[in-house]
Amino acid sequence: MMQESIAALAAEITTADLSSTTHLDAFRISYLGRKGRLADLFDQLKIVPADQKRAVGQQLNALKQDAQARFDAAQQAVEATADNTPANPDFDYTLPPVPNALGTRHPLMLVREEMLRIFGRIGFAVAEGPEIEDDWHNFTALNFPENHPARDMQDTFFLEAGNGKRESGGEGKTEDGENQSPRSPLTAPHFLLRTHTSTVQVRMMETEPLPIRRVMPGRVFRNEAISARAHMMFHQVEGIFIDEGVSFADLKQTVYYFVQELFGADINIRFRPSFFPFTEPSAEIDITCLICKGAGCNICKYSGWVEIGGCGMVDPAVLENAKIDPEKYSGYAWGMGIERIAMLKYQIKDLRLFTENDMRFLRQFEAL
Ligand SMILES: [Zn+2]
Repeated sequence: MMQESIAALAAEITTADLSSTTHLDAFRISYLGRKGRLADLFDQLKIVPADQKRAVGQQLNALKQDAQARFDAAQQAVEATADNTPANPDFDYTLPPVPNALGTRHPLMLVREEMLRIFGRIGFAVAEGPEIEDDWHNFTALNFPENHPARDMQDTFFLEAGNGKRESGGEGKTEDGENQSPRSPLTAPHFLLRTHTSTVQVRMMETEPLPIRRVMPGRVFRNEAISARAHMMFHQVEGIFIDEGVSFADLKQTVYYFVQELFGADINIRFRPSFFPFTEPSAEIDITCLICKGAGCNICKYSGWVEIGGCGMVDPAVLENAKIDPEKYSGYAWGMGIERIAMLKYQIKDLRLFTENDMRFLRQFEAL
């Protein structure tokens, strides 16, 4: 009985049509598959009398190997001819090939990578952090006290916890007990989209051993109307260095090195006194206008200088918030907008171009 079934199946297998992928699929499913006819016969082995089991088992195995070998050989043959078989007989093979549409790197990513490479050469390792932040890391730890007018400089988008509650119990702990620094004194976290990557600086200061030398790239958000010069979403590269005896001269040299590497040796820098809650003293960083090289033009409003970012010495209050002794340690920090640098470098006049996905714009960066 079993012998007959095996012989019948063997006959079918040796005469099966395996000339196309459709036939191959059918063959694979009906003979080789887990629910195929061979598997069926293997199942029936258990009712074969014990003294025949060995012989029948060997026959079945041989048939299975033969079926698999036939299938493999036929599949190779079909694949080998497939490339030369016209699927559509009307296709004109004399036409030039249609090239694959390769994407290009986005100008913001090009600039980001170049910035990180330059800072990497002088020892700044990359650190990243979450885009959804709590009030402590975005504002309070950075010396923006609650209800202080400095917060108006950076309005953002606030979030509520998933269950609709804004409050959570327990000092320094969120509902799931995560995402919250153990040193954070926050009791009622307000979650928000971070307004700057300085949040990562706070996280570094809270958790990393000193000295800290880091650059932090990332996306940030502001509650702003979208125009040629402002957007509700943009990118920053910030940096921080904290150690014993760090001075403003170190900051200036770092920025100078970066600017010369990125824009060229003929570009100079200038620091203008400014105010940021988290640095003291603070300065805006200007560079020689790239268009007129300092002679004065309408881009630089005839001053010869254009601004690229802000910087300063980390405020002792910020160090104290992160439990770092400001008597022993000092540090500097800076922040630059990647869009701003890209606009200067590639002479782009409208910020919105970066997010409109206009292929005519993006293809211009193909060769970079
Ligand atoms: Zn100019």
